[in-house]
Amino acid sequence: MTEQQATVLYDEPASGIARITLNRPHRGNAQDVQLTYELNDAFMRAAHDRNIAVIILRGNGKHFSAGHDLKDTTHDKVGRDFPITSTWGDIETESVAGWYGWERETYLDMCRRWRDIPKPTIAQVSGACIGGGLMLAWVCDLIVASDDAIFQDPVVNIGANAVEFFAHAWEIGPRRAKEMLFTTDSWSAEDAKDWGMVNRVVSRDQIDAATLALAEQIASKPRFAIKMAKESVNAAVDAQGQRQAMDQAFALHQLCHAQNRQMFGGLLDPSGLPESIRNDERVSTLVKGK
Ligand code: ZN
Repeated sequence: MTEQQATVLYDEPASGIARITLNRPHRGNAQDVQLTYELNDAFMRAAHDRNIAVIILRGNGKHFSAGHDLKDTTHDKVGRDFPITSTWGDIETESVAGWYGWERETYLDMCRRWRDIPKPTIAQVSGACIGGGLMLAWVCDLIVASDDAIFQDPVVNIGANAVEFFAHAWEIGPRRAKEMLFTTDSWSAEDAKDWGMVNRVVSRDQIDAATLALAEQIASKPRFAIKMAKESVNAAVDAQGQRQAMDQAFALHQLCHAQNRQMFGGLLDPSGLPESIRNDERVSTLVKGK
């Protein structure tokens, strides 16, 4: 049975498998506030359900996720329509301090929570996986991509260092991370597999079945041992300093937002925004500035 929230679907395609589907296909599954909180609810539901052994995350339609939705004007719903999930209480959009809390709550702390779910998670990536889309793929333990998937972090174009969950250097190595960020080029699924970021590449018409088969293989293993295997690998990455480096990159990201506020009146450098957003009067000045 598939259950539907407004922007996220949840089903159990096989015994022990939860499948979460981002469901804003008309926006390339770009992430607005509502999708972010419904995704958190779905991850927590799967995490707390004793019958679920493995979690799949995918997108409905052509794309996995086109990133954070720059046309979202509902930032003030955090703490109002959607209860705050972290310990940050002073969240608002008017100040540098308030925005730091906003992005801690909705991006960094959420991503860390999902990354640390003590069950294997598999990102099933087709089409665009851009900007904030990378964050959702990277918090998962494994990535299965279709051969039409593309990966890109274009955030430098709009005046910040990278997306808020700074795993780049671990995901693809420091030199490729610099190339990804400096050029803002997009990369194919095969490239990403060569780099060790993607586990498997399959055709689009095979990706549902291939991901499910992988999930079922993992779900058949002793569950506590699998949880401890995940914890062990995550601990190795933490021991390499990933957490501290990500904290620093997040702080530098906030410095970029503060610089853009001073220079342009909004969070981003509007000169790098796509024209459809820069010229759209409905897009919040919070995002695009004056
Ligand atoms: Zn940001």
